[in-house]
Amino acid sequence: MIEFKNVSKSYSNGTKALDGVNLRIEQGEFVFIVGDSGAGKSTLLKIMMREEVASEGSVVIKNRSLNTMKKRDIPYFRRHLGIVFQDFRLIPNMTVYDNVAFAMRVIGAKEKKISNRVPHVLGRVGLAEKAKCLPNELSGGEQQRVALARAIVNNADIIIADEPTGNVDTKRSFEIVEMLNQINASGTTVIMVTHSEELVRRFGRRIITIKDGKIVSDDISNISVEPIADSQVFGDLDIASKRAIREADEFIRSYNSTIEDSTTEQPGGETDEQ
Ligand code: ADP
Repeated sequence: MIEFKNVSKSYSNGTKALDGVNLRIEQGEFVFIVGDSGAGKSTLLKIMMREEVASEGSVVIKNRSLNTMKKRDIPYFRRHLGIVFQDFRLIPNMTVYDNVAFAMRVIGAKEKKISNRVPHVLGRVGLAEKAKCLPNELSGGEQQRVALARAIVNNADIIIADEPTGNVDTKRSFEIVEMLNQINASGTTVIMVTHSEELVRRFGRRIITIKDGKIVSDDISNISVEPIADSQVFGDLDIASKRAIREADEFIRSYNSTIEDSTTEQPGGETDEQ
């Protein structure tokens, strides 16, 4: 459902950031993208988000060609994506609740639906009690969980996370990746860029390594390693947070079935088929 064929990207200053990338990611996969700084990881993600366009080759996501996509269709395409950044990108003068609600308001959701959905999602990331806080009243890990709530609130099919653990400590990093794992368990594709070898080792998923704009390894053998013991991942998380993580999967599953009918209408005759 994500397919890159011979994709190259040159920026206007002549830098070749991607060079002949071939890649296929199926719906429901969890993929780590690793590589040194400057390797081309962000460029790859930006092309997936249609922030940048490939200079050569073709990119198809959910049956849509990103090469030929019209500008007016980009916002509708992006509804399929939930995006999480290293620096959280929360709106500083909005409460936690409003930061998450905002993502629903911009797509025109009704306030009634928002007031049902947002507390649920905040509960599932263990932040129900922080709804009225401003971002600067939260720890880094908590801010990233708000960003995660915002990414899943519209029921995205694909979560794209660009170094989401870059600004939080190791313990909280595991917590965030474990939440991404739970989101993935409900069928959402997760694509995560990271520098952390420890995370990649512990979570044992597909690892795509990029070097100088090329994919130099694509290690799908990692998909079936043993699950990590709770004690390793959760460390000293409190019981409520553990429960919240566990319930996230169940919640997202049930939400999937209720939202489908209200989000399928799109302009340009596009459908939600994959
Ligand atoms: P990574 O995310 O792996 O650090 P990037 O995709 O950000 O790598 O960058 C790949 C290469 O493209 C680097 O050499 C970087 O300097 C260059 N680059 C990234 N964005 C731009 C841009 N907007 N204009 C020109 N060069 C860019």
